[in-house]
Amino acid sequence: MSDKLYPNIINGEYLPAASGKTLALTNPATGDALGAIPLSSAEDIDKAVTAARAALNGKWGRMTASQRTKILFKAAELINARAKEIAELEARNMGKPMMHVMGEVKQAVEDFEYFAGAASKIEGRVPPVHPVFFGYTLKEPVGVVGAITPWNYPIMLESWKVAPALAAGCSLVLKPSEIAPCSANILVEILHDAGCPEGTVNLVHGLGESAGAALVKHRGVNKISFTGGTDTGRVIMKECANDMKRVMLELGGKSPAIVCEDANLNDAVLSSVFTIFYGAGQSCDARSRVYVHEKLYDAFVEKFVAATKTLVVGDPLDKNTHIGSLAHASRLPVMLKFVEAAKQGGGKILCGGEQLKGGLYDKGTFFAPTVIVDLPEDNLCVQEEIFGPIVVIGKFANDDEALAKANGVKYGLCATLYTESMPRAQKFIRGLHSGIVTVNTPATALPGLPFGGYKQSGVGREMAMETLDTYLETKTVLSGVTGKPINPFGLTLS
Ligand code: NAD
Repeated sequence: MSDKLYPNIINGEYLPAASGKTLALTNPATGDALGAIPLSSAEDIDKAVTAARAALNGKWGRMTASQRTKILFKAAELINARAKEIAELEARNMGKPMMHVMGEVKQAVEDFEYFAGAASKIEGRVPPVHPVFFGYTLKEPVGVVGAITPWNYPIMLESWKVAPALAAGCSLVLKPSEIAPCSANILVEILHDAGCPEGTVNLVHGLGESAGAALVKHRGVNKISFTGGTDTGRVIMKECANDMKRVMLELGGKSPAIVCEDANLNDAVLSSVFTIFYGAGQSCDARSRVYVHEKLYDAFVEKFVAATKTLVVGDPLDKNTHIGSLAHASRLPVMLKFVEAAKQGGGKILCGGEQLKGGLYDKGTFFAPTVIVDLPEDNLCVQEEIFGPIVVIGKFANDDEALAKANGVKYGLCATLYTESMPRAQKFIRGLHSGIVTVNTPATALPGLPFGGYKQSGVGREMAMETLDTYLETKTVLSGVTGKPINPFGLTLS
């Protein structure tokens, strides 16, 4: 296991990096060696982009929508058939409980199914222009897509990009996160088995600053589809401006949950414990700020802390585990920095706030689920994405104050509301500066519903028909109907 190389896959060939260099991978929950990936550079990226362009100009580019639909449905079937293998690999790779990863793999299946159906629904328009013309639009694939993904939902987020890009007829170079890269090899293997011609989907492993940056810079890439941190997204957007690459950015969040005075208290507690601690808080949509109406506040906090203390933090492969390890040892100092900022800001830590020690905890990097109260709104823990199992609970006196606090950060990915009042829900739905608003449910991401953020949470939407359009260009076609060009200058020729 430990000497296994997860190779690049370029034009269907399994390859090491041109430099021969590798990066070793470690299971963050056990410290065991997991294998290695190639440390690729601009040379490997160039080879992959060339293969993707050739596929577009070759067999893949000539396929019909119906052929693409069949390939995507087949891919869904094959992911489903290998779901347990993929989930186990991801659980070992980034410490998330196996049971949760299993659900995410199933969502990747649904995503492929959704876009399999969408491939045959790509249509232009025939607008009613002047009758001497026939004008219409054609939708064409945007071209070669560079897909760059993070570590927190590996195969699911790769599918969010690969499935719509293939449905649209694009080819791809996928650069997964160096922290959780292993399952991408299975995905690309499956796509070949499903019928994607060589070069249609290429996989290049490596670091963001080398392989990722080379992909973003490459002039042969037409679009970058990126999911990751807001600061990285900013760098990528600037770089894409150089050659006007299309760019889609799914970035960070600091999403609020709002518990109104008419909410069902127990339901709101249990749901909001889940929406922060799922995946050890390492989700872009983690509801990491909870605002509770002052009438419910004391009871809410007491029940929330009690429920948090019952969470099982442990072995990701054990089915009773609620929270696994942090995805990487490098996340620990980040957690400690935020806890320190909370203390400096006068916050009270009601539980957690530290690394867990003893027994299996000593082999990996585990952080106790942490609840902080009494923080001013300008504290780092309220304003910045922590991306870990740390929640801040605050209070409000009325709906306007709740809205102002919820909207008072630079992010706007999602917001969750707990209320039994439809009129109140409507007021919040319209008032929240957020790409997704959920009411009385922890769920945020379902194939068919656009997923993406306002403000600095990103540009573009995934998982829906809006997504498909971002992998397409619109070509306007205009022809005369008389068979003779008009002569607007009215000139004559001898
Ligand atoms: P990250 O930005 O560090 O890395 C993401 C990917 O970008 C990795 O593959 C990395 O290698 C690559 N990369 C890094 N620097 C690069 C550069 N200069 N050029 C090109 N590529 C580069 O993010 P992460 O730590 O892997 O993921 C966590 C972040 O992702 C969080 O901020 C989270 O909110 C965000 N996220 C957003 C969504 C969403 O849909 N909005 C979903 C999941 C995660």
